[in-house]
Amino acid sequence: MQRSHSTSAQGPASTRRRRAGAALDPQRTLLISCFDAALPLERMGLSARGIPCAQVRSPAHLVAPWSEATTGESTALQLSLSMRETHDVVICGHVRCTALEVLLDEARAQQAFQLLSQVPAARATLELVRRNYGRLGGDALREVMAQENVLTQLDHLLTYPLLSGGGGPRVHAWLYDERDMSLWAYDSGDSQFAKQVQLR
Ligand SMILES: [Zn+2]
Repeated sequence: MQRSHSTSAQGPASTRRRRAGAALDPQRTLLISCFDAALPLERMGLSARGIPCAQVRSPAHLVAPWSEATTGESTALQLSLSMRETHDVVICGHVRCTALEVLLDEARAQQAFQLLSQVPAARATLELVRRNYGRLGGDALREVMAQENVLTQLDHLLTYPLLSGGGGPRVHAWLYDERDMSLWAYDSGDSQFAKQVQLR
């Protein structure tokens, strides 16, 4: 999955971290994912003996940039990160996503679009995709939207003090493709998603 657009090398993207192949301990992992992502957690190494890792789920796994305000959009994630020992944070998007479909097709669910597109974290992805991939359509657009949304929310995630400094949890950016049950991980060195494993 080559990205035809590359985000700024000087921006938060340069702090993206990934360690391929490192085994995760589900009991020490926090998964940030979409509300409708049917993820095979056991096969992804995110569940052990039927007990899944801790999860924060929301439409399009939106991450509000970190804020010093004690209440706000980032509070739930801040609490999730600070309440238990976390060694790895996985942000995992998926290709067949209801929330991204809403963002891609304004006319399809107007009320939901109005709501979702007002959330700054969602608008960031929407504007980036409109700006850079205006000529794509169909499955190619869906795929690129899912990739860019993972990376946009990853940039937001890396503004959290617990994750932006050294010595904190490792951060992984994944994409699950339901079409062939494949799992992809973002490689910051190559600026692309590389296939990790076929989960069937
Ligand atoms: Zn989804």
